[in-house]
Order: sequence, then C-alpha cells, then structure tokens
Amino acid sequence: MSNFRRGYNFSPGPAALPEPVLREVQDELLNYGGIGFSVMEMSHRSPAFMDIAERSEASLRKLLNIDDDYAVLFMHGGATMQFSAVPLNLCGADAVVDYINTGSWSKKAIGEAKRLAQVNVAASSEPECSAIPAQSDWNLSENAAYLHYTPNETIHGVEFHWIPDVEVPLVADMSSNILSRPIDVGRFGVIYAGAQKNIGPAGLAIVIVRKDLLGHARDDIPMLLNWQTIAESGSMQNTPPTFAWYISGKVFDWVINEGGLSEMELRNKRKAERLYRCIDESNFYCSPTAPESRSLMNIPFTLGRDNLDQTFLQAAEANGLFNLKGHRSVGGMRASIYNATPEAAVDALIEFMCDFEANQN
Ligand SMILES: *Cc1c(COP(=O)(O)O)cnc(C)c1O
Repeated sequence: MSNFRRGYNFSPGPAALPEPVLREVQDELLNYGGIGFSVMEMSHRSPAFMDIAERSEASLRKLLNIDDDYAVLFMHGGATMQFSAVPLNLCGADAVVDYINTGSWSKKAIGEAKRLAQVNVAASSEPECSAIPAQSDWNLSENAAYLHYTPNETIHGVEFHWIPDVEVPLVADMSSNILSRPIDVGRFGVIYAGAQKNIGPAGLAIVIVRKDLLGHARDDIPMLLNWQTIAESGSMQNTPPTFAWYISGKVFDWVINEGGLSEMELRNKRKAERLYRCIDESNFYCSPTAPESRSLMNIPFTLGRDNLDQTFLQAAEANGLFNLKGHRSVGGMRASIYNATPEAAVDALIEFMCDFEANQN
C-alpha cells in the first residue's frame, strides 16, 4: 500500500469523509476565501464564520426538510452529552421516561437517564441485540415525558426500518444513520447525532428540537446543555467547534450535490444488499443479525473458523481495506458503510472476501 493512495476506510467512527470535501478543505486550509488565514484561526463571530455557520444550517434544513417549528443546534460533547441533555431539558427528576434498549448505545443512554429521571425500559432485545423488538410488544408507560430510542445501533448492526408511533415526544439518537435516507422530521420531538459518523469531524453534535419543547429545562441544568440557551445564542453561547461546523456544511452540500437523501438511500441500499448477499451466500461468513432488522450502515459478520480474525484483518489491510475489526464488546468483523463510503469500496471488500474464503479451502 503506497502512502500516496488512500485506502477504503470502513471505520465505524470517526468515519470516512467524502474525498471531494477533504480536497476542498485542503484547498482552503491556509487561506480561506482569500481572507488571509484559515477557518480554524478566525473568530466565530466574524462575518466569514457567521456566513459559514448560517449556510451550513440552511443546507441541513434543506436536506432534511426541517421547517421553522424546529431549532437546529450545533453543540459540543458528542452524542453522549445529549444522553444527559435529553432528560435535563425535557423533564424533572421524578418524571417517568420510556426507553427502548436495542444495543450498546441505547444502554448507555439509559444508564445516564437513570441518574436523572425514572426510567422505564419499555422493551429490550438483550442479550443478543440481534433484532428490533416489535412495537406491539413494548410496555410503554401511561404518562412518560418522552420515548427515547436508537434508530441505528452502530455496534450491533441493527436498525429500525420504521418510526415508532407514540403520543409523547419521540427522541432519537440518530448518530449513525442521520442523512442516510429521507426522514419525516415532523414525527420527532428531538433528533440528535454526534457528527463523526455521517456528518463530519468529531467534537460536534447536531440537535434538531421542536421549539415547543424548549423552555422546560431544569433550573440547575448546566448552561451549555440548555437547548433553549443554545438556540437563543445561535449555538454561540461559547466558542462552538468551528472547524467541525465548517466541514459539516461542506458534507451537507456534497450530499445535496450528489442528489440528496433519496439518492443516498438508493446507494446505501445497493451497498448493503450486495454485502449481505455476499455474507448470506457464503458458507464461511456469517451475519449475527435478523434479516428484517439489519443495518444499512454497520454490517457485522463473523468468520466461519476460529483464530482467523487477525489473518483476515492483515490481509484486508494489505489490500487497502481498513478498519474492519468489530467492536471489542462483540468481536468479529464490522464494515461501516456510511454515505461517504463509495460503492467501489464495497465491491472491493466483497471481492477480497470471496478471495479470502477461496484461499481457506
Ligand atoms: C458513536 C455513537 C454515540 C457516541 O457518540 P459520541 O459523539 O462519541 O458521544 C452515541 N450513539 C450512537 C448511536 C453512536 O453511533
């Protein structure tokens, strides 16, 4: 692998960015728009950055069709900070809140919420977390302040291919499948996502919150977690993660130029279908997930024989295929194929997997 060629990167996160975006950033790095310095070195209140920030938000609103009933916030602290922000903004410590447990990330959100509210786990797919539990089997509370779920479990590779139908505000951690397909934002009270999977660099979280849910935060909430405070300051209550915000805007524009979210959905379905077919048709690779719950973004698989994992990973790297190791909590392999992963990368992976299998016999 020459240093001069980029490999295909299947990292779960921070994940691959679209190459045209990286090239644009490279072009603008030393001297943004002829102003004499880089975006990293400018005031967040300067006209140049205010323009970057506004255009980024406008592009996201256009992509997801977000109307004026929703605020769009650019926050610090990744998705994990929102695990705390959700209960602190939406309810008191005595309130009952419903959570669906479908894997590692829901579990972490539940763990944090338990310290801050009365959590009812309305459904759980533990221990395997290999399928999404049907809504008809959920035990929802009478008076929950909200329902929280994780539309795509990045580690277990399971995804909701439907939106829960509930009366209470629906809160979704969309970190690993936002922008992978069109969604009806109007069905949600709150959508949040760490940027580093499908949006941009780590250090930024996007929060899309229905405006009638602002203004209910607890009195003792830290200022930077208060969605209303962040909304009123245009996400500039303190210095925001400016460089991540700037690159995210470029990614939004890249998605728009590529044909928007319906085009992303077509590509993502093609990529995932090909890879699952390769796994299912082989006698060597195995998918741990139930077919109806399979993620289009994160595809875990195991090898048919023990002790081959290291050999597989090394051979993959030698072929320019990087970051295929599964999460340490579940083992095996995982290919994360977000928007920025080209179809050619998936084809190269499939070809490699077929060759590797053939060499075992
Ligand atoms: C990666 C991820 C997180 C954690 O994101 P951080 O930005 O590291 O806090 C939370 N939820 C999901 C679904 C994720 O994929």
